[in-house]
Amino acid sequence: MVDLHGQYLKIKDEVDSAIQRVIDSTAFIRGEDVGKFQDELSSYLGVKHCIACGNGTDALQVAMMALELQPGDEVITTPFTFIATVEVIRLLGLKPVFVDVRPDTFNLDPEQLEQALSERTRAIVPVHLFGQCADMESIMEFARINGLYVIEDNAQALGADFLQANGPKQKAGTIGHLGCTSFFPSKNLGAFGDGGALFTNDDSLGLRAASLVNHGMQKRYHYDHVGVNSRLDTLQAAILRVKLQHLDDYHRLRQEAAAWYDTSLSEIEGLQIPVRSPFTTHIFHQYTVQVQASRRGALKQWLMEKGIPSQVYYPVPLHLQRAYADLGYRKGDLPVSEELCSKVLSLPMHTEMEQVQLRYISDQVQQFFKA
Ligand SMILES: *Cc1c(COP(=O)(O)O)cnc(C)c1O
Repeated sequence: MVDLHGQYLKIKDEVDSAIQRVIDSTAFIRGEDVGKFQDELSSYLGVKHCIACGNGTDALQVAMMALELQPGDEVITTPFTFIATVEVIRLLGLKPVFVDVRPDTFNLDPEQLEQALSERTRAIVPVHLFGQCADMESIMEFARINGLYVIEDNAQALGADFLQANGPKQKAGTIGHLGCTSFFPSKNLGAFGDGGALFTNDDSLGLRAASLVNHGMQKRYHYDHVGVNSRLDTLQAAILRVKLQHLDDYHRLRQEAAAWYDTSLSEIEGLQIPVRSPFTTHIFHQYTVQVQASRRGALKQWLMEKGIPSQVYYPVPLHLQRAYADLGYRKGDLPVSEELCSKVLSLPMHTEMEQVQLRYISDQVQQFFKA
């Protein structure tokens, strides 16, 4: 599904010398590269504050802590995402309230927000799934009218552009009150281990988040908030600084692979290629097609027999997970997400895809539908 070694080999010299530089400095925690990476990522995204932390899950947790959400407060989000989004809501004693996604783009459907609103609603967490933005203009407008915070889960779309109808481009993750991302190795900007970051244009939220990731420390050994220990290692920051230089190239390579798939798979009866929203670029963290539920297993098996991996992101919607059963959701409550879980299949997608691989994969998918 990914080729992290091939990607490394192309930048081996740069990465190896960055790693050696950190080892020689022995400033493994809060070393110089961490601050520099934060500055470079802020300017890449055009956002005032970037706070690096231990992973994307922590970034989400710290965002909710920075907003001082209180136990019992409700947070609206999507059930068609990775578990981390919802896990941190629960861990903080907040209540996740799910709204369904759009069947074409897999992203939170703004038209469903109204019915999820209650007296206790405090925030919305849209997820920019698979590499393109949720409808941030509608979500921000709804949040403004109802006095809610917006935290963007941007773990899968770091670098995607949101295109305002009458305004400038904005990078995903910089539109809400806070944005969060992950540098998990398979993400579009992947470290050689765990890593994450928060973004905000709000000075006081930025200051608070920076303090929260470091035990809530203000001055050395003076604590104004209960915080966590969640820092980005200097080694990871040094590697990410190298890879950030290549991020736009990485996006282009993914987009070229996606264009190839689009062309060769668009005519297949029984297969839906990814639908692109008009208000966002798509950086294809995943290339996810939809097939009839009754045929998906057979297609996955067929591809496996031909040596082609594929994955189901995600097989069970979060409102039907056992750990969250006490929320009281039942099958049928969020029908679009439930149906998508039985229809989606992600094909290999990464920066090292070669024409021969793309042709082989596309041919095999076509063969399946002809057989
Ligand atoms: C990867 C991911 C996260 C969590 O990031 P980690 O760095 O693995 O903690 C959160 N949300 C989404 C949508 C993700 O894809």
